[in-house]
Amino acid sequence: MRYFLEENYRMNDNLSMIRQNLHTHCTYCDGKNTLEEMVLAAIDKGFSSLGFSSHCFSNLSYDECGIKTAANYESYLSEVEALKQKYKNQISIYRGIELESRIKDELYPNPDPRLDYSIGSIHWFYLDSRHWEVDYKAEILLQAKEAFGGFRPLIESYYNEVIEFAKHSSYSITGHIDLVTKFSELNSFGFENESWYRDAALSAAESVVKCGKLVEVNTGAISRGYRTTPYPDPFILKRLAELNAPIIVTTDCHSANNIDIKYDETVSMLSSYGFTHLYYLTDSGFKGIKIDA
Ligand SMILES: [Zn+2]
Ligand SMILES: [Zn+2]
Repeated sequence: MRYFLEENYRMNDNLSMIRQNLHTHCTYCDGKNTLEEMVLAAIDKGFSSLGFSSHCFSNLSYDECGIKTAANYESYLSEVEALKQKYKNQISIYRGIELESRIKDELYPNPDPRLDYSIGSIHWFYLDSRHWEVDYKAEILLQAKEAFGGFRPLIESYYNEVIEFAKHSSYSITGHIDLVTKFSELNSFGFENESWYRDAALSAAESVVKCGKLVEVNTGAISRGYRTTPYPDPFILKRLAELNAPIIVTTDCHSANNIDIKYDETVSMLSSYGFTHLYYLTDSGFKGIKIDA
């Protein structure tokens, strides 16, 4: 386990004073703002800490979102480190990555040990030697569905990939676990209420928790207009709460103006699902902090 619980841990004696976002993108990957612009936005919005999680350097020709070269990845690490020092009196900055499965020649890569944390996310459906983006366009999702022979095999393969990645990689946080529902609010796919769908999603949620992963509650699709609620869906959140899963809240922002989108609203609704603690990365690892209901 990479985290631990401190029942009475308090920062500034008030949960509302703690603001941390560990899922942010910048111009090293597919974000719109530079690292420093993101830092300044985080300070402006009252975040006490900020983590950078650029899409990893996958070295795959079809990956248009990730860091493009090994040299860029090294610059990313040094620039984040330099900003950490420059702004240390105003905000705590952490070095992270959004790690992908099946990069380079690695099926389930482990994170670079120089990083403070990592988010493990699945953004692709894989079938034989073919691949489709999970979250790029609804049309691509439907193309993948055709190739797999229906939503059930497609989506079960997605959740299976989530489970295998959690089992075989030492990344810290499972990213947007039910990303396959990104387009569901704006379309009528109909799979979301099927029992096989719920079983697959819950089984993935239970597996990642069993593997010791933290799970993120991610507001990213709200800022992009695809969803009105964060990932994961409420039925998954309720199961995670029953499991006492360690959760964090992130905005998965790709621009500085979305750095805090729905952050406070999401933090304040968590206790209604049954969560008692929210987790934060500190200089000595992840800590669970009691939510004042
Ligand atoms: Zn992602
Ligand atoms: Zn992301």
